[in-house]
Amino acid sequence: MQLFDDKGKCCGCGLCAAVCKKKAITMKMDNMGFIYPEIDGNLCIECGKCVKICSYNNQEKFYTPIECYAALAKNKDVLSKSASGGIFATIANQFIESGGWICGAVMDFKDGRAFCYHLVTNKLDDIKRMQGSKYVQSDITDALLKINKLIQQKEKILFCGTPCQVSAIQKLSINYEQLYTIDIICHGVPSVHLYNEFLKCKASRNGEICGFLFRDKSRGKGFKAKIIEKKGKERKERMYPAHLLSYYHYFLKSLIYRENCYTCKYAKETRCSDMTIGDYWGIQKIFEKKIELDFEQSWSCVIINNIKGKVLLEETKTSFDLVQTQLNDIKQGNAQLSRPSQKSEERDKILKLFEKEGYKAVEKDFKRKLGLKYYGLLLRNYMFGR
Ligand SMILES: Cc1cc2nc3c(=O)[nH]c(=O)nc-3n(C[C@H](O)[C@H](O)[C@H](O)COP(=O)(O)OP(=O)(O)OC[C@H]3O[C@@H](n4cnc5c(N)ncnc54)[C@H](O)[C@@H]3O)c2cc1C
Ligand code: SF4
Ligand code: SF4
Ligand code: SF4
Repeated sequence: MQLFDDKGKCCGCGLCAAVCKKKAITMKMDNMGFIYPEIDGNLCIECGKCVKICSYNNQEKFYTPIECYAALAKNKDVLSKSASGGIFATIANQFIESGGWICGAVMDFKDGRAFCYHLVTNKLDDIKRMQGSKYVQSDITDALLKINKLIQQKEKILFCGTPCQVSAIQKLSINYEQLYTIDIICHGVPSVHLYNEFLKCKASRNGEICGFLFRDKSRGKGFKAKIIEKKGKERKERMYPAHLLSYYHYFLKSLIYRENCYTCKYAKETRCSDMTIGDYWGIQKIFEKKIELDFEQSWSCVIINNIKGKVLLEETKTSFDLVQTQLNDIKQGNAQLSRPSQKSEERDKILKLFEKEGYKAVEKDFKRKLGLKYYGLLLRNYMFGR
């Protein structure tokens, strides 16, 4: 039994493993740190279920967006912890209060290593853990099994994740009325292994990274990371602009994604979820001459794809500053609504270097390219606010 003939045809969702009754499929890491399914021929009975259910072997349903908005949560606390306008947290809060379950990405740390996975919960307190973008592949294998159980129990569920994850979740039960889905506009995911090796390079001697925020807003909007490190009883926080962190810089430049992200079939205008959310890049240019908005904040774009998406927004709309907009305006700042990220030769060079010599070599190469002296100066200026 063969699941795919090249790595560009597997997003690592783990759906095949979740549906295999014989437990013949294990998700395994390759040399570059990406996870792929592996079939144990001794356990496999060749029923074909795994191949049939995989998104890469299916024609999916894509919706043509019906309405678009720029949105910003009114609650300042929600806003400060969210990557952009706090759409997910506001909707998730309402969803749990009306008796439902939610599923979103969290990132835990243990012994200096990060674990990024989708948590299924009906506790309001867990929403905080889901807020904020984690720019790494999140593991949904456990969530798939839990959501499957909730579907059988006829519970109401809201899932938020990348479009390929949404697609996998939807395949658990076609046309299941109580499943609501939100996809994030996505340009690709690196592996959690690469991320952990990068974190090791960032830890000081005897220190251990115990927290990482990709979109810390304490110095305003944008791509600013906060690294939290533990050293004995001491806890230290450091701030970095994205372009001074190798992993973050390479992530934003599309240089470290999974192979399949460069041919992503979800990077287009029509969408597989009920609602699509993302950063509203370029909002100032679109609105500055028309209406007065607070452009110092990170606004989200919200794309309503069908009636369920409309219901999600309708039930929460008084919690947002909401302005109607056009899909073409959102697309101007978000290429992923038109095409996948472009793969370059540099992507393969960086990942091959990682495979052969480890992350220290990647970090060294990054600093060399940036200019070591220049790197130190930039960092000092940033940290001391000059
Ligand atoms: C890997 C990745 C790539 C992205 N690329 C783009 C892009 O190209 N253009 C754009 O406009 N926006 C992109 N985003 C989305 C953006 O960063 C914000 O998440 C979005 O604007 C929603 O903001 P929010 O304030 O409503 O919610 P937030 O509170 O920031 O987060 C909302 C949800 O994001 C989900 N999430 C966080 N990390 C992950 C993850 N690793 N995997 C799956 N789901 C996750 C969580 O489930 C959470 O429920 C990306 C996000 C991720 C995680
Ligand atoms: S179901 Fe998911 S993990 Fe399995 S082969 Fe298909 S894309 Fe890959
Ligand atoms: S063919 Fe059937 S038994 Fe074999 S791995 Fe796929 S689902 Fe499991
Ligand atoms: S770019 Fe496409 S394939 Fe890659 S994580 Fe995002 S949705 Fe999935």
